[in-house]
Amino acid sequence: MEDRFDIAVVGAGAVGSILACGLSDLGLSVVLIEKVPVSTSRQPAFDERHLGFSRSTMMVLRGLGLWSAMSEGAVDISRIHVSSRGRFGSVVIAAEDEGLQSLGYVLPARVMGRVLYETVAERDNIEVIAPATLICADVTEEAAIVVLETEQATRTIKADLLIGADGADSQVRRLFHIGQSRQKYDQSAVIANLGVQELDTGLAYERFIEGGAIALLPRSETGYAAICSVDSVEAGHLMIMSNTEFGVYIQENFGGYISRVTEVGERFCLPLALVRSREVVRDRLALIGNAAHCIHPVAAQGFNLSMRDVAALLEILGKARKQGLHPGTLSVLQRYADWRKQDERIVVAFTDSLIRIFTNPLLPVALMRQKGLLALRYLPGLRKLFTRMVTGRLGRQAALVQGVSVTSSDIYG
Ligand SMILES: Cc1cc2nc3c(=O)[nH]c(=O)nc-3n(C[C@H](O)[C@H](O)[C@H](O)COP(=O)(O)OP(=O)(O)OC[C@H]3O[C@@H](n4cnc5c(N)ncnc54)[C@H](O)[C@@H]3O)c2cc1C
Repeated sequence: MEDRFDIAVVGAGAVGSILACGLSDLGLSVVLIEKVPVSTSRQPAFDERHLGFSRSTMMVLRGLGLWSAMSEGAVDISRIHVSSRGRFGSVVIAAEDEGLQSLGYVLPARVMGRVLYETVAERDNIEVIAPATLICADVTEEAAIVVLETEQATRTIKADLLIGADGADSQVRRLFHIGQSRQKYDQSAVIANLGVQELDTGLAYERFIEGGAIALLPRSETGYAAICSVDSVEAGHLMIMSNTEFGVYIQENFGGYISRVTEVGERFCLPLALVRSREVVRDRLALIGNAAHCIHPVAAQGFNLSMRDVAALLEILGKARKQGLHPGTLSVLQRYADWRKQDERIVVAFTDSLIRIFTNPLLPVALMRQKGLLALRYLPGLRKLFTRMVTGRLGRQAALVQGVSVTSSDIYG
């Protein structure tokens, strides 16, 4: 069987599924290929994780008509408290200082997955093929070609453009022999949902501890999603602690900042690394999301960065369509790569330096860390810059991020 589509997207995680919705809004026919069954209970991309994301990400979701269904499960972040254990100095970043209602939101990944899978299933111009095994992929002058094996048959898919949204270990990237740079941090993230006696509504915490960091995202009126980024040996210890011991661990690290931990949910452990693809576009090929760049979650920026990629790619493909260019044209895709380069560089540098400064036990670095926090507290200009970074409002903004819907004919044609 041979099938022809405008776009083939490999990977129906958050990024691939959201992109597929936007491409469908542009009127393009899309095939969304996923290796695991698309039910959120069997999809590791939509696990027990809670995603903290910025206002710019919310704007993208809203522009794509996805936000109203997702927002029912979302909690607002109005302030972020940043501190370092054992050091004087903390800072609170507040939405109102930026004239915003909210700095960001927290959403259970499962809720996001459910809304996305319901949406793609309703679209006439999206075909979902899952579970499917990618056998090979190639590009010719005429099309990008993907051969798949499903439970029923082998299928050969042809598309104007192939997009790899298949995560950090992207098979698409490997099939096209695209190199990657990989930096190991020898760190792992231990994530768990916590219940607490009392919670300050809308307040998220970023706490740097010796050799790592703990983020607490308010996930409900009574609980946090905890992400502990620690060295891999310590992560092993955290995984075998009893629930009570883990609650005490969190409590001790946060001192008096949070109330008593009353409940600890199941814990998950994920190794952390910085993985960057050496190329993100070729003729008829683009990489996006973790397939293009997988960054440390210390500042919760990975998904945000990917949503700005999605907004930029949709804008460029919409404009190309208006000009009568097919979406796989290299010069079109190169515009996407050029546009996104600077934002990616800033986010990677920001995240990487946070890890280096805040996890280094040497005294001069520890003093620098304290100075950094104090500077953030007392220098309004620096705080503003930091807030713009956290809310995803640095650099050239795509129309979707600014609230222009993807169906606007002015922008997208
Ligand atoms: C512990 C942790 C906490 C995080 N917290 C935040 C946060 O708070 N805020 C934030 O902005 N970011 C956060 N991130 C980052 C965020 O989770 C990622 O940026 C985001 O999930 C990337 O999504 P993706 O769709 O690109 O990749 P993935 O989620 O990896 O999805 C890839 C999809 O492709 C499928 N796939 C893989 N191979 C194939 C194949 N060969 N064929 C077909 N399908 C395939 C997979 O099954 C999957 O569905 C966090 C990351 C971690 C590890």
